[in-house]
Amino acid sequence: MRIQPVTLLGVGISAALLAACGDGSPVAREGPSVVAGFYPYAYVAERVAGDRASVANLTSTGGEPHDLELGPQQVAEVSEADVVIHQAGFQPSLDEAVELMEDGAALDVTDVVELQDTGAPADSHADEEGHEPEEHEADEDLSGDPHAWQDPTKLAGLGRAVADALAETDPDRADDYHANAEALSRDLADLDTEFRRGLADCERSTFVTSHAAFGYLAQRYDLEMIAISGLSPDAEPSLARMRELQDLAEDEGITTVFSETLADPRLSETLADEVGVTTEVLDPIEGLTDETAEEDYFSLMRSNLQKLREANGCR
Ligand SMILES: [Zn+2]
Repeated sequence: MRIQPVTLLGVGISAALLAACGDGSPVAREGPSVVAGFYPYAYVAERVAGDRASVANLTSTGGEPHDLELGPQQVAEVSEADVVIHQAGFQPSLDEAVELMEDGAALDVTDVVELQDTGAPADSHADEEGHEPEEHEADEDLSGDPHAWQDPTKLAGLGRAVADALAETDPDRADDYHANAEALSRDLADLDTEFRRGLADCERSTFVTSHAAFGYLAQRYDLEMIAISGLSPDAEPSLARMRELQDLAEDEGITTVFSETLADPRLSETLADEVGVTTEVLDPIEGLTDETAEEDYFSLMRSNLQKLREANGCR
């Protein structure tokens, strides 16, 4: 027990040195600090914070946010933050760090955004586990589909909750935070309109994805998602499931099997080969990669819309 503070101190010093070497600016910052578990929520926080607060994303670029494991430095970052945004159940390691927070406010996304059963897990496990819902629930340890950010309308409420949390720690700038949250809300409403119009008149409404990350998108825009693996990217489908997927894809006249940015594309490529169609990347927007480092939530959503329109023959 006596070793722990020394270790943390050591990490703190090297982090400070790294920061000082990195950009030459002092470590001291003006506004409050926000820490988010992964990209979409960090993006919302950045939009609301503007240049008034600093935002850190715990999942590094190219990292897969499902079941993120925090290191000691990140645990310290969480405990010192003014506002921490986490989604209970999605990153248990972060949930544990939130329990250790000192003065900051924890904002649990599931308190603001109602997670729903989008049908995604039942769909992707129908064959093997259709009769064992209890086992499935224990497997995923989730009270609903976690990928809420795929429905843009669900992020507006989160933006307002972030504004409220920031206003509480930094009352002088409350008006800025609330104005930023409203601007974000308007942009999200525009994006929603683009999706509704863009997917209104298509030859197909079914699309095939790598893991079941697009359940909310499917629900919102009347699409049907067929996912190769389950709610988590590392859930492997059985051979029987792969055959069933092949039949489904052929029956639906699928033109494209989607893979994604942060997960292994091999299953999507295998299925596409079997069906004789192409693969294309549909980004679940769980995080940025080196290739998408210049993109943001909106540009990636619009790129997804374009790819869905092409795959499904939308006019
Ligand atoms: Zn996911």
